[in-house]
This record gives sequence, C-alpha cells and structure tokens, in this order.
Amino acid sequence: MDHNALINLPDEMLHLTLCNGQARVLLCRTTNLTRKCANIHQPSSVALAAVSRLMTGTLMLSTMMKEEDSSVTVTVAGGGPAGKITCVGRHNQIKATLQNPQHEMPLKKDGHLDVGGYVGNEGRLTVIKDIGLKEPYIGQSNLVSGEIGEDFAQYFTVSEQKPSLVAVGALVHEGFCLSSGGVLVQPLPGCTEEVLEQLELRSMFFTAISREVAEAPLDELYSGWFDGLDPVLLSKDPLEYKCDCSREKMEKALISLGRAEFSRLIEEDGEVELTCHFCRSAQHFDKEELTALLERATRA
Ligand SMILES: [Zn+2]
Repeated sequence: MDHNALINLPDEMLHLTLCNGQARVLLCRTTNLTRKCANIHQPSSVALAAVSRLMTGTLMLSTMMKEEDSSVTVTVAGGGPAGKITCVGRHNQIKATLQNPQHEMPLKKDGHLDVGGYVGNEGRLTVIKDIGLKEPYIGQSNLVSGEIGEDFAQYFTVSEQKPSLVAVGALVHEGFCLSSGGVLVQPLPGCTEEVLEQLELRSMFFTAISREVAEAPLDELYSGWFDGLDPVLLSKDPLEYKCDCSREKMEKALISLGRAEFSRLIEEDGEVELTCHFCRSAQHFDKEELTALLERATRA
C-alpha cells in the first residue's frame, strides 16, 4: 500500500453489530487527535500514551451516548506519578488534561512504555455521564493495572454490568504519536455461547491495536477480523480534539469565586489571566473588565 496514504488515514469511530445484533463493536483510530493533544500539553512519551488510551476509551463512551447535550468525563487516578488524568468527550469531540504531563518513566523490560507504572493501580477510574438531567450518572471501578484498556474493561463489567473486551493502544516515539486507536467488543443480551467463543478467539487479532490501525483502513480491519460473523456497519463518524472553552465560561468561573474573593482579587492583583486546562489558551481580564464583571454579577 502507498505509504503516503497511510499517514493520512483519518480519525474516525465505527459502530458495528455482529451476528444479527448479538454483539456490538466499536472501532476507532485516534492518531491525529492524539497529536493535537501532544502539541497542546507537550507530554512525555509515557504520558502521551496514557492520555491517548484514555481519550480513546472516553470516545467509545461518548459516541455511545445518544442524547443531544450529553457529555462524559472520565478521570483516572491511580496513585502513580501521573496524578490525575481527565478526558471529556462530547459525542465525537474530545479534550484532555494531565496533572503531570512531563514526567518520564524508564521503559519496561519488554521495551514498552510503562503506562501502568505512570498511572499507578491503586485507585479508580471514574465516569461521569451528563445527559442534561439534574443529576449526572456517576460510575466507578477499581483500577486493574493502570494500563487503561483493562481498566475500561473492568469498568464496563463492574459498573455497567456489560462485560466487554477492550483494547486501546498508542504507538509513541519520543513524544510523537505514530498511531493510536482502540476496539471494544460487547456481547449483547441473547448472545449465544458459540458467538461468545468466536469473539474470544477473534480478540487475538487486536492485541496490537495501535499497529493494526496504522496499517489499514478500519473497514478493511473489521471485515477481516469478524469474517463469518456478519459485521454490519451502523455508523462512521470523524473524531477530533476540540475544546469548548470561551471567554463567557471563564467569566462564569470568576463570578463563581463569590463577591468577597472576587473583590479581593481585583484589589490585590488588578488583572488576571486564566489559562484553560484543556487547550492552554489564555484569556486576559484587566481591572476595568473585572470591575464591570463584578458589578454585573452583583446586579444579577
Ligand atoms: Zn480550552
């Protein structure tokens, strides 16, 4: 295959069913959005691999949510040097923030990046699903390894009672993402033992998911992996890294400080610059603007 064509393979999420609805499959490539995340946060290789896997898993959750105004926030905190990593997915858009993006880790004995060591495994994966109701849905599961894929699988099994095969991977070299992506296979109610067995067998195809999605179009991949299981493509959507922050949201954050704290800020600092944790863009407010904002908030 033409090498240049491979480099331009798009980020996308495919939703499929197998065996007449006995199982669902999500398959995605997240290479370009991982590169954008790297440009913003300048992470170490291990941090980039970790956040890439977490973004991939989060996009699986967010693209399963059908409500128009829905979003999902996934946080992993495993007691490792990473601290906390948080991703927010809105349908096919993702953004992420890392507490300790520059931390480096020695490679594992097998030469792989030590994502599990960076994240740690003494903690939880937390999923907050907001579908526009008063109370969001909050699900949690204990981390298995901090390698993210197994941790998502554990979340689906324990918190959603939907045992799933999950593979997420990122091929990262010197802080650059060569390729990343993931696959989720979830048996649905009525799935027969034979189909389950087949799904287990086929899971061997995607143990090196980041390499797989680097080398072939996703349609080609699933047709091969699930040959004989009648794969039907339900949807194919582009994915992107996109922040939805705005000056208005930052104004709200300032107002939420409360009148006393806000006044003190104006008195003592005179001006503020707020930087978004997800896209690193900054908004500057001078004294005049802050005073006007405080007045407006007090009147409201
Ligand atoms: Zn932002």
